[in-house]
Amino acid sequence: MSDTIAAVATGGSISAIGIIRISGGEAISAADKIFSAAGGTKLADSQTRRMYYGELRGADGGLIDICLCMISRAPDSYTGEDTAEFHCHGSPVVLSEVLRALFLLGVRQALAGEFTKRAFLNGRMDLSQAEAVIDLIEAESAASARNAACQLRGAVGDRLESVYGALVNVMAHFHAVIDYPDEDIEEFEMRSYLPALRGAEEELARLLSSFDRGKVLRGGIPTAIIGRPNTGKSSLLNALLGYDRAIVTEFSGTTRDTIEEKVFFGGTLLRLIDTAGLRKTSEAVEKLGVERAVAALRSAELVILVLDGSEPLRHEDHEAASLIPPETPKLTAVNKSDLPAMLCESELAELGLDYCRISALTGAGLDVLDAKIKKLFPELMSPPAGEIITNARQAEALSRARDSVNLTMAAIDEAVTPDAVLTDIEAALSAIGEITGKTMREDVVSRIFERFCVGK
Ligand code: GDP
Repeated sequence: MSDTIAAVATGGSISAIGIIRISGGEAISAADKIFSAAGGTKLADSQTRRMYYGELRGADGGLIDICLCMISRAPDSYTGEDTAEFHCHGSPVVLSEVLRALFLLGVRQALAGEFTKRAFLNGRMDLSQAEAVIDLIEAESAASARNAACQLRGAVGDRLESVYGALVNVMAHFHAVIDYPDEDIEEFEMRSYLPALRGAEEELARLLSSFDRGKVLRGGIPTAIIGRPNTGKSSLLNALLGYDRAIVTEFSGTTRDTIEEKVFFGGTLLRLIDTAGLRKTSEAVEKLGVERAVAALRSAELVILVLDGSEPLRHEDHEAASLIPPETPKLTAVNKSDLPAMLCESELAELGLDYCRISALTGAGLDVLDAKIKKLFPELMSPPAGEIITNARQAEALSRARDSVNLTMAAIDEAVTPDAVLTDIEAALSAIGEITGKTMREDVVSRIFERFCVGK
């Protein structure tokens, strides 16, 4: 039996409620030693998943909190072990006192992701579901949360289970042929497995092809806001940040500090790339931020060109427009619509770009810009049902699985020996197993769970 672990599950800041989770063979007895239910029921005799109100006391008998406690018994709990949860008042001091009392009873601090790792190791969820837990916690948009929630319910595992089953069928047959070499396998019979293999290959390819959307779902559409100085790029950025729920993340880069701003706009998450750099270099007209703009534009999947609608079009505006790669989705925001318009329709038509008039200052026209972005990415607007792969590790394993299935089909086509066919099927099964966790090295599993927060 594994040791008993505990952690604060609700983070380290002051909140209304703070939850301590305990899991392991001694979870219920340890909780019983510090908690007295008001009705006198011992937790060991209490009903599973029912809240009990009572007093929580430390080792010296001093009152720590008046709170609720709930237990779940193995194997029907999140971790598959006996668990207890204290729902305390959310003071970090209270929570650390509860932990201290538990540690004195031999319970130890849980490591990052250890509860979910135990859930995986005890067969409560497969690895794709465990990874969906962290994706759900870290989701930055409703669509991303929904995809992760569906994966937590088993969307990826279920799809792969049918592929796995089909491959195991084929493998079983080829094993039988090797085990009974006298019964020669007909070439025709070998070929009868091709449709099943083709179906497996198609399903793997379908999942794999969702990864591009997955990257956008998770990280946002890399978006560059460009334009000559003073057209209102920073103002637009600020307006977007204030438009809806905004996420501002600061990353310390290895070579220099960059600020990455993510904003939920146009029905999707936009990741505004290197706009800080663009803003800096755009001070000098002759530079027009060319180097940084070009770098940002190279990785952009959406470009918003900002023009100043209160002035006639300038040479630098044309120059900025010409930097946009022709195949990149783009929009023009003709800014400062609160001022008299000096940029006329014919000039805008000359640029040949889809545009809308906005005012970063008043927020006018942002709804039109929002609608135009939605129209540019219609495929992102349908709510995902867990079919989208957002995880690079899973995508890489899927790609290997698909390659191995292709090799299997080629081997059958060329009527090579059954054991050669088997080698390829086994490689495909092993790659699928890496996603569900059926075949997974312990060190890789540990690395996956290190991404989790403590208490999950
Ligand atoms: P950037 O150099 O392209 O980033 O431009 P800024 O965002 O710094 O804006 C340049 C100037 O234009 C500032 O004085 C802003 O206050 C002003 N500005 C930006 N957007 C608007 C707008 O929609 N209306 C008006 N009237 N002024 C604006």
